[in-house]
Amino acid sequence: MTTLTLADWQQRARDLRIEGRAFIQGEYTTSSAGASFDCISPIDGRVLAQVASCDEADANRAVISARMAFESGAWSRMAPAKRKATMIRFANLLQSNAEELALLETLDMGKPISDSLNIDIPGSANALRWSGEAIDKIYDEVAATPHDQIGMVTREPVGLVAAIVPWNFPLMMACWKLGPALATGNSVVLKPSEKSPLTAIRVAQLAIEAGIPAGVLNVLPGYGHTVGKALALHMDVDTLVFTGSTRVAKQLMIYAGESNMKRVWLEAGGKSPNIVFADAPDLQAAAQSAASAIAFNQGEVCTAGSRLLVESSVKERFLPMVVEALKGWKPGNPLDPATNVGALVDTQQLDTVLGYIEAGRNDGAQVLIGGQRTMQETGGLYVEPTIFDGVSNAMKIAREEIFGPVLSVITFDTAAEAVSIANDTPYGLAAAVWTADLSKAHLTAKALRAGSVWVNQYDGGDMTAPFGGFKQSGNGRDKSLHAFDKYTELKATWIKL
Ligand code: NAD
Repeated sequence: MTTLTLADWQQRARDLRIEGRAFIQGEYTTSSAGASFDCISPIDGRVLAQVASCDEADANRAVISARMAFESGAWSRMAPAKRKATMIRFANLLQSNAEELALLETLDMGKPISDSLNIDIPGSANALRWSGEAIDKIYDEVAATPHDQIGMVTREPVGLVAAIVPWNFPLMMACWKLGPALATGNSVVLKPSEKSPLTAIRVAQLAIEAGIPAGVLNVLPGYGHTVGKALALHMDVDTLVFTGSTRVAKQLMIYAGESNMKRVWLEAGGKSPNIVFADAPDLQAAAQSAASAIAFNQGEVCTAGSRLLVESSVKERFLPMVVEALKGWKPGNPLDPATNVGALVDTQQLDTVLGYIEAGRNDGAQVLIGGQRTMQETGGLYVEPTIFDGVSNAMKIAREEIFGPVLSVITFDTAAEAVSIANDTPYGLAAAVWTADLSKAHLTAKALRAGSVWVNQYDGGDMTAPFGGFKQSGNGRDKSLHAFDKYTELKATWIKL
C-alpha cells in the first residue's frame, strides 16, 4: 500500500520523464517518417509527450525484427521452465515499477490513481505471472494409436502475433495478450491505442530488463488506420489478437481475408444486462453493485452493467438505493488517492457520452441523477455518473454501447421477460442476475447469451477463468489456459514404428 498524497503524485507528475518513441529490436526509435503526435492528458489538457506516429514502414521493421527473433529460437525454443522464470521476472518488474506505471496510466487516460495502482498494474503483472507459471505445467498428448504407430498431438507457437489494444485498461488489456502470447514462445508486435500509449512503451524496456530477447516484444504507437491497419494486412503476421470496438473488430476480419488469412481473435464491445429480481438476497448489496458496475473506470468498461433490469414489484424500493449508492461515485482529480471517478479519455469520448445523454432525454427517458459535464474549470473532461429511468430496450441508450457512466433502467415482470430483454442485444459479453432462488439463478444464468455470467455479484473473476464474448462481443477467450489456444497451432505427428 502506498501512502502518497495528491501533492506527492502531482510532484511526481512534474518530475516524470516520459518516453514516447516506438520500441523495435530492443531499442527505442523514432518512427521511420519522423512523425509524432501530442499525447494529451484528459485530466487538464496538458501535453504529456510527443509520441511516435508509426506507419506501414515501421510495421515492416517491427515484423522483420519479430520474425528474426522467432526464427532464432532464443525465445521460441527456450526451455519452458526458463521462459517461466523470465516471465516471472517481467511480472516482478511491473510490480516494482508500479508507482511510475500507475502514474503514466492515470495521466494518459484519466482513471483514478488508486485504480491504476491497485487494479491495473497488479492485474497486468498478474496476467504475465499466471501465464508464465503455467507454461511448464502443460503437457501435450499421445493419440490412441495402433501398436505400430505413435500419433503425437503437440502445440507449437503460432509465430508472430500482432496485438492491437484499446485505451480503457491500456496495460492490462495488453498483458492479457502478452502473458499467453509470450509464455507460449511467440514474438509480438504490440500496438497500443493512440489515446493511451505510454505504459506499453515503458513496459517494452522492462521486458528487455527481464531477459526477454530483443525483437520478441516490439511496441508501435500510432493510429489504427495507419499502423494498426498495416499490421492487420501484413502478410507475415500469423495471428492478430484484438481488444476494442465491434466496428473495428469486423474490419480486422476483412483485412485478414484480404491478406494472408491470419487467425483473428476479437474481444469487442458490450451492453451488459444486470438483472435484479424482487427476491435478491441483499438489495442493498445489489444497489451498491449496480452503481459501481456503471461508474467504475468512468463507465469505460467493456463489461459495464449499463442496462439495469429491475423487477417491477421491487422497483420503488430498489431504485432510490441505487441513486443513493451512485452519490458515492463523484468525479474528482484522478491524482487524488480518494477519487473514485476520473476523467473521460478524450474530447471525442466526452462528446460521445454527452451525445448519448442528450439522446436519452430526447427519447423521453428521465434523468434520476447526474446528466451533466462537470469540473470544466480544471480543463479536464469529467461527466457526472448518470441514471436514466423509464428506458425501453428499443431506445438508443439501451441498444448502443455508450462507454461512459450512463445507466439505463428497464423494468420487467417475469423471469422469461427479463431473459428476453437481456438477450435482445447484438452483444453477449457479460450479464448478472440477483436472486436468492437457486433454481431461478441457474436457469437464468443458463438462458443468458453471454461469455461471463455473475450471480449475486457483478464483475467477479480472475486469471483462472476465461473471459470473452458471445455474438458480436467477439470470439476466443482471454485469461485462463483456454487463452493459450489462440497463441498455438495444434500439430499431429504420425510416426510409423
Ligand atoms: P477501437 O476499436 O476504437 O480501438 C481499439 C484499437 O484498434 C486501437 O488501438 C485503435 O488504434 C485500433 N484501430 C482502430 N481502427 C483500426 C483499423 N482500421 N485497423 C487496425 N486497428 C485499428 O476501441 P477503443 O475505443 O480503443 O476501445 C473501446 C472498445 O473496446 C469498446 O467497444 C469496449 O467494449 C472494447 N473493449 C472490449 C474488451 C473485451 O475484453 N471484450 C475490453 C476492453 C474494451
